[in-house]
Order: sequence, then C-alpha cells, then structure tokens
Amino acid sequence: MKCPECKKRIPNGSVECPKCGADTGKSKDDSNSADGLNFREFLKLSESKDHKESIASSSVLLCFCGLFIVLLAFLFPELGLKLSSAIIPVALGIWLIVSKSRTSAVVALVYALYLLSKAPNGINGWLLLVAGVCAVISVFRAKIAYKAAGGKKSK
Ligand SMILES: [Zn+2]
Repeated sequence: MKCPECKKRIPNGSVECPKCGADTGKSKDDSNSADGLNFREFLKLSESKDHKESIASSSVLLCFCGLFIVLLAFLFPELGLKLSSAIIPVALGIWLIVSKSRTSAVVALVYALYLLSKAPNGINGWLLLVAGVCAVISVFRAKIAYKAAGGKKSK
C-alpha cells in the first residue's frame, strides 16, 4: 500500500506511515486480515492461496488413492481388492475439499492406519497413509495460519 500523505510504499495494513507518521486511515483491526472471517473465507484470501492449494492437493491425492485401488483391482484380480474399498478414499477426498475440516483429514489418516493394521503390506494402505498425513498437515497448517492472522476460534 501507499501512504496517503507522502505516497511512499509502506507495509500493507500499517496503521500509520513509518516514513512520515501520517494516519493511513486503517484501524488496527483492519491489519488482521482474517478478522471477522470464517475459515473458508480466510482460505479465499490471496495470501492463503498456498494453504488452499495444499488442501486441494491432499484431496486430489485421496481421490487418486481411490482410482489407484480401482486400477489395481482390474490389473491384479488375484489381490482380491474390492471395488467398494475405492469409494471410501474418494469420499474422504471430496469431504476434505468441501468441508476443509480437521475432522475429515484426521478420519482419512485413521482410516489409512486401520487399513494398514489389517494389511500391513497393502500398497493402498500406504498410499492412503501418505495422503492422510498430507491432509492432516495441510489442514492443521492452514488452521494455525488462520488463527495467527486473527481468525475466530474454530467451532
Ligand atoms: Zn507517509
């Protein structure tokens, strides 16, 4: 942003110009970009783009796990993979991208651990574990950034 008085470049959200001391017309509250925004609105801000993208990639990864299971089931029928087991990762991926909630990410991770506990060598379990960890990290990092930016306490 520019100072309304001296027109020099000053940091975004400055309450007063560090160069000439003029009031910029911004209140202290305006400097907290997430103030009054809910988490989803916060993710729409340009500075939250990275968080939004990493959550989206985790969702894609979850959906990809589902597709991978379908592929494995077709290529290697001897593995005995059920097509129905492909629906869960896809559903989890959609849930994550729609809700952007920590619950959906944690459920994906727990589901992966459950699969691994049943079949420790199952490649779909490991793939889901990677996707689940990515989902948890991306959502929690976004939540931390949201709180740091002055966001409301989450429900
Ligand atoms: Zn100034």
